[in-house]
Amino acid sequence: MREIKSDIYMLEGLWGTGVFSANIYFLLDSRLTIIDTGYKGKISRICREINRLGYSLSDVENIILTHHHIDHTGNLYKLKQLTGANIIAHADESPYIEGELPHFCPQVPGKKQFIKYFLSTCPLPVDIRVKDGDILSMLGGVIVIHTPGHTPGSISLLIQRNGVLIIGDLLANTLGLSLPSKAFTVDIKQEIDSINKIAGVDFNIICFGHGSPIIKNANEKVNNFAQRLKKR
Ligand SMILES: [Zn+2]
Ligand SMILES: [Zn+2]
Repeated sequence: MREIKSDIYMLEGLWGTGVFSANIYFLLDSRLTIIDTGYKGKISRICREINRLGYSLSDVENIILTHHHIDHTGNLYKLKQLTGANIIAHADESPYIEGELPHFCPQVPGKKQFIKYFLSTCPLPVDIRVKDGDILSMLGGVIVIHTPGHTPGSISLLIQRNGVLIIGDLLANTLGLSLPSKAFTVDIKQEIDSINKIAGVDFNIICFGHGSPIIKNANEKVNNFAQRLKKR
């Protein structure tokens, strides 16, 4: 676990912060909010970390999903069963989480049984559908920013009081800042528009679905990256 701020923690992906891992975030308030749930197979680790943070499973009030991809929703079903927490996602992402629309993931031919299990999903109803500009009440106010492109209902979350921006897969920071994998991104033009949108947001720290957070000069680094994209 890594402390981002005294009330924001990050659990690194299964294999560190590489591209094949996905980070999970914890917002510590009177109750607990979890952002994304990582790849399947981490549920006991997540439960241990909840306890280590001083909470019990029944204290988990919300699970916010930045988007529906399996590396962010892998432990969602079990976590919902264990905690009964509200599942929060953008309205445009809900059909994928709820199983109404198929996931975009590219098909891997001749998948082994284990891989099939690993990549399979358990649809669940979204309890709270959010849209751009909504403010969630935890930590004094978390602003929902709709940042589509990677998926139609991808969201970023700005924790106003300490300027922490959590962006899911809008950008990765595995070997420096990079765009998400093209194979898993539905609309690259929209994706770049969304990067420009967050480049205009005022934040101090930026946290990713994949890779380490940027703690210093985060706003400037994202702005520089957005400028470089424009010149391509
Ligand atoms: Zn993704
Ligand atoms: Zn991801």
